[in-house]
Amino acid sequence: MQIDVPNDVLAKWQDIMDTMAKIIAVPAGLIMRIVDNDIEVFVSSKTEENPYHTGHHEVMVGSGLYCETVIRKDDMLLVPNALEDEAWKSNPDVKLNMISYLGFPIRGPDKTPFGTICVLDNQRNDYSELHENLLRQFRDVIEQHLELIQVNVQLGIAKAEMEAINAQLKVLASTDGLTGTINRRRFDEILDQEWRRADRDQLPLSVLLIDVDHFKQLNDHYGHLHGDDALKMVARVLMAMAGRAGDVVARYGGEEFAVLLPNTTLHNAEQLAESIRRAIARTVLFNADGLGVTGTVCVGIASHIPGTTDNAFRLLQVADKALYRAKVNGRNCVQA
Ligand code: GH3
Ligand code: MG
Ligand code: MG
Repeated sequence: MQIDVPNDVLAKWQDIMDTMAKIIAVPAGLIMRIVDNDIEVFVSSKTEENPYHTGHHEVMVGSGLYCETVIRKDDMLLVPNALEDEAWKSNPDVKLNMISYLGFPIRGPDKTPFGTICVLDNQRNDYSELHENLLRQFRDVIEQHLELIQVNVQLGIAKAEMEAINAQLKVLASTDGLTGTINRRRFDEILDQEWRRADRDQLPLSVLLIDVDHFKQLNDHYGHLHGDDALKMVARVLMAMAGRAGDVVARYGGEEFAVLLPNTTLHNAEQLAESIRRAIARTVLFNADGLGVTGTVCVGIASHIPGTTDNAFRLLQVADKALYRAKVNGRNCVQA
């Protein structure tokens, strides 16, 4: 199995191999790893007379390398003197004068072969039990490192997934399920932010409260599902019309919407409110049985440049009172 070994771990492995080659007093200590069909020198001890260079690689199967056998047999290999061993006397490392070998397989976290850890000598070497033990211990440390690397990768993936889910949840928590506009909770947050910005810059902040006229009657007559469609249609018209950067449309209650208009004067808010009123009056809201029934809205407007005596809540109150006056005035109208 192939694993990306981070540089800090690689530096530790280098240290391990340098130390080990010196303790066992051999010219070469190596960590070999499998890369696709090849086996490569991954870490090579910084020792005198070491003929192996990091990055050197060969096709593994049929290479005749000591390491090929260690991996295939998944077991320790000890060759004290290749020159006296029929099976090993013409292996490729002999050309480099490396005639004795001690190596262990390294397995990845999934227990498939990762590579080997080995020492090689340019003279006969029977390697003591202590040396065997040392090499085995280092092998175990390297396998533990590989497991930690794997766990870290998995944690990173899990973290990224969590963040994506959290981002989705945040969007969902701010959105009205029916109309796709933002919901009241999020609107109140944005209103607060925009109020403070308007206060800082001393710019007018306007808000429209829009309520569908006689919606209960229409709803009862055509049915709740058609009522839902009508609300979606109203939301679509509002989002299309309040389209300046910073404009925000929210579903504020059952059949009531709020539109926040930063840096907008009362005069401009009135113009937009009137355009919205007219657009809705032309729009088919209920289309039960293809009847094409239009509806109307009332719009209450408030516009303030924040001062010391008022606040965002007051702005909404003023808009709500204006909306109430529009209802009393006979509906399908705009009031500031
Ligand atoms: P007015 O002209 O004074 O605004 O009268 P109205 O009937 O529109 O006002 P009222 O507040 O009495 O009724 C609002 C209705 O909106 C009541 C409720 O059945 C309906 N409503 C609220 N939320 C939803 C919704 O999510 N879907 C549907 N289909 N109807 C809703
Ligand atoms: Mg209504
Ligand atoms: Mg209402």
